[in-house]
Amino acid sequence: MAFEGLADRLQSTIKKITGKGKVSEQDVKEMTREVRLALLEADVNFKVVKDLIKRIKERAVGQEVMESLTPGQQVIKVVKEELTALMGGEQSKIAVADRPPTVIMMVGLQGAGKTTTTGKLANLLRKKHNRSPLLVACDVYRPAAIKQLKTLGSQLDMPVYSLGTEANPVDIATQALEKAKADHHDYVIIDTAGRLHIDTDLMGELSEIKAQVKPDEIFLVVDSMTGQDAVNVAESFNEQLDITGVILTKLDGDTRGGAALSIKAVTDKPIKFAGMGEKLDQLEPFHPERMASRILG
Ligand code: GDP
Repeated sequence: MAFEGLADRLQSTIKKITGKGKVSEQDVKEMTREVRLALLEADVNFKVVKDLIKRIKERAVGQEVMESLTPGQQVIKVVKEELTALMGGEQSKIAVADRPPTVIMMVGLQGAGKTTTTGKLANLLRKKHNRSPLLVACDVYRPAAIKQLKTLGSQLDMPVYSLGTEANPVDIATQALEKAKADHHDYVIIDTAGRLHIDTDLMGELSEIKAQVKPDEIFLVVDSMTGQDAVNVAESFNEQLDITGVILTKLDGDTRGGAALSIKAVTDKPIKFAGMGEKLDQLEPFHPERMASRILG
């Protein structure tokens, strides 16, 4: 399960301080040192760790004592609040266009889980929000991608708009939007092409699609298993496309958690959902506070 190592370390660190009736500056110093090491080991971005530790120290030393908590518990509370804030604070929702359909563009590198997540998101929108999405196959470079989306569409009993591999992705997206309006779909989810690495052709194409369909959301799908790389990928995509949110996949795997803990701080874009498995119902809203509680035990 994700964050196991981090959770173990942080929990044993905070155990030492929880029961304390008095917390000295030295205690805080020792605890933050441990927290810092645990976070770095979990592959959290160096600068993010530095800022976080600074804030924890400032708040933990010299804070007002609340009667209901021991000083030790209070320090833990600060750590939890800061971890929550680091991951984005309040859980943010999906945009709804003033005039339907709401357009969502899914972007990301190949293998991140973009196509699967397109299906999962459509499933969630229908199940939880009673929406009727149209899926759009814009990855024309990988014939298997279109087939994969169509398979997901038939599993979900949902329409998939495709013009095969010969058409231009910008045209496909544009025409899909018209189709969605005509057929009264309230969401359009566009599965765009991925590449193994970020390249200018890909970004150019994604920018063109963006300019044409004016999406309400651009979700970057990143693989949480790739740690710091995921953060770098998020930074690049955000610079080029001004994404609106991130979906972290494979959080069910043995990830060290660094991506989840750094992406919001580095991009200032919220993590909106987390992929927790390969199945179509394994996409969950990302709750920073719950995640922080899970990590701290
Ligand atoms: P794309 O190239 O970005 O479209 O990636 P795919 O959607 O084809 O996914 C790549 C692989 O990751 C597939 O084997 C998916 O089943 C798997 N995958 C996607 N999301 C998750 C997840 O949240 N957890 C796990 N364990 N596997 C996932």
